[in-house]
Amino acid sequence: MAEIIILACAMSHGILKLSDMKIIISLVLLFFSLSATANTGYQPSFDFRLYKKEATDTAPTVLIIGGIQGDEPGGFNAAALLATEYTITKGNLWVVPNLNFESIIKRSRGIHGDMNRKFSELDKNDPEYALVQKIKAIIQDEKIDIVLNLHDGSGFYREKYIDRLHGPQRWGQSIIIDQEKIETQRYGELMALAGEVRQSVNAVIDNDESRYRVRNTRTREGDAEMEKTLTYFSIRNQKPAFGLEVSKEYLTHERVYFHLLLVESFMQNLGIKFERSFALKKDAVKDKIDNHVKLSINDGKIYLDVGDARHRLGYVPLEKSVPMDIDSNSPLLAIVNDHKGYRVRYGNRHVTYLHPQYFEYDSSLEQVTIEVDGQQQTIELGSIVEIKNSFFVTPLPGYRANVIGFKKTGLKNESGVLIRRKDIASRFSVDKAASLFRLEFYKDKKYCGMLLLNFNNKKPAQISSLAVH
Ligand SMILES: [Zn+2]
Repeated sequence: MAEIIILACAMSHGILKLSDMKIIISLVLLFFSLSATANTGYQPSFDFRLYKKEATDTAPTVLIIGGIQGDEPGGFNAAALLATEYTITKGNLWVVPNLNFESIIKRSRGIHGDMNRKFSELDKNDPEYALVQKIKAIIQDEKIDIVLNLHDGSGFYREKYIDRLHGPQRWGQSIIIDQEKIETQRYGELMALAGEVRQSVNAVIDNDESRYRVRNTRTREGDAEMEKTLTYFSIRNQKPAFGLEVSKEYLTHERVYFHLLLVESFMQNLGIKFERSFALKKDAVKDKIDNHVKLSINDGKIYLDVGDARHRLGYVPLEKSVPMDIDSNSPLLAIVNDHKGYRVRYGNRHVTYLHPQYFEYDSSLEQVTIEVDGQQQTIELGSIVEIKNSFFVTPLPGYRANVIGFKKTGLKNESGVLIRRKDIASRFSVDKAASLFRLEFYKDKKYCGMLLLNFNNKKPAQISSLAVH
């Protein structure tokens, strides 16, 4: 059965109406309409994203790669945060957060085999041939000075065997180099640089088990497996490269925390300066990964908060036979069509399943007026409204408001009615906590767009924006 996969066009700020995303969106549409017309032999094509975060030419350019294996969420979530939540103020950071995107959203190490064994020889018929060629070209780009490949590895690497989880056969909490040094103009002293990063990272890690080691695989001396890897491809092309391994013994947000510690230490060492939108603490990292991802479908016609969504959402107004385009602030978001509905995936996670109800769309309505807790507000469709107690949609001639889960006998248009949280049935909420509800607008039988109503008396968590250096 052919699957149709819709890839998110992620952007760093905001979710809608960024003109530079239009090209990508239309490319996705083109891809989608081409694929939708092919009934047989359809092969979904997954592409990765490259973020170029450039400040100056004077400091070096580091290439970060996440998700070469799809079941290593520490690496690809860390790279996604680097791509979307960091601002570079000196030097340059290129980030590929989702190299093996198909395997990431299908939660597999490698749907088409291990991609990290495809960098010495590869059959042209390999389904990932084009992707591997593309990332090879990025690695070889003359601007790239250093490559960091982010992995989640088993156990804890130690020079000598200690127990099943700690020993030379394990990979976690290590910085991997293929050899002691390479002949390059800059940064060729791999062992020395790894040692400096190790020292600065270990100084802030408060327990011995989590502290990093440096592991030299001595690939050139006859490690046939390591010769096939991305980092060794870089080395053969005179690009200093490091594998960063965080232990799979940790939870995802803890892995991300360790990866970011390491990457930041590399950047500091190389003179790259940056700011990030959250504190580098485990709880703040968890909050960033779990609670700040938004999904916009069809240019904001459908707008969802990905965190804590219900496993299934019914009556989602979609257009029949019209390609769906999606947008997200995370590059890890994708939608997989299985003929009945749409599975929304965020990295390795299931977000929700959308059961569509088909409508024609109307685009005449961009904003609406709502009285929220007694205060009149003009609100753009495709956004979230924060409500403490009650709201009231100002009637708009020709348009009908529908609060999903609110019912009053004989009432078709729910504008002009004061509505409180207790008037809406909890099971219709978007989120499991039953605080987020859909307010939809229609013109005759056509669907105009929606707002999310967030009934919440709690203040959002205060995560301060931290400047580094
Ligand atoms: Zn790996």
